[in-house]
Amino acid sequence: MLSRAANWISDAITPPVCAACDQLLQYGDRHLCRLCWRDLHRACGIQYCRRCGDTRGPHLLIDGFCANCRDRKPGVRDFDGFSCVGAYEGPLREITLRFKQRFTYDAFLGELLNASLEATSFCNDVDFWIPIPSHWLRRIRRGFQPTGLLADSIARRRQGTVQPVLRMARMIPEFHRIRITPSARSRVIQGAFNVTSPAIVADKSVCLIDDVSTTGATLREATHTLKRAGAARVFVATLARTPSENEPNALDGPVGRSEMIASIEPSPEIGKS
Ligand SMILES: [Zn+2]
Ligand SMILES: [Zn+2]
Repeated sequence: MLSRAANWISDAITPPVCAACDQLLQYGDRHLCRLCWRDLHRACGIQYCRRCGDTRGPHLLIDGFCANCRDRKPGVRDFDGFSCVGAYEGPLREITLRFKQRFTYDAFLGELLNASLEATSFCNDVDFWIPIPSHWLRRIRRGFQPTGLLADSIARRRQGTVQPVLRMARMIPEFHRIRITPSARSRVIQGAFNVTSPAIVADKSVCLIDDVSTTGATLREATHTLKRAGAARVFVATLARTPSENEPNALDGPVGRSEMIASIEPSPEIGKS
């Protein structure tokens, strides 16, 4: 708590810098410098299936769904809807890493996460928000739970509630930090969660909140645990997803405009005198 207060004080007395690259911000900039807003547009322009989150070329997505999800009802391990802010690259990766170390950008990341949720068809169907839990030892070591802060931020913005009903029963590695095959990931995570209050989730539509999704194994296991406990639908909202092995780097693509980012980016006119 003390270190959190110290971070706030230090942020209040130092000149505003870009949350991703530490450049001094110009008048009219908000959170990020112009170059980082540009890269954020690139990172957030990725195409993914709105049900399972897989990245497929836009030509393989029809109405936002991949071929696997198009004609199939979600099963017990499947999400009922998926949203993410963008690729775990460039400014989004940097801010997420800093947030997990210093917990100072929760409001900004909450704003980004909320903007990505606004673009979904499910955001108004959610009964409550459930953060993907960390193991208690990791929570104590870090002093806070990043997904809990994000869930709080979303619940505040959407006038909803957070129900932290998932518990992580054993420590598992942070998959985006280590090299591990997808099948090994699924094995490691199996049975890692339990639901503390099944009566709360019974017949409810809930949304899991995560920070970084690598293969989705953690989110699928959490979904399975919640559906087995009686949840009717499980949606997913994550900040970032790591690109798969043969996926091109989103930052190497053409500079595009993400409508979602444009909705929260400060107008370029503000900085002009
Ligand atoms: Zn920057
Ligand atoms: Zn799909």
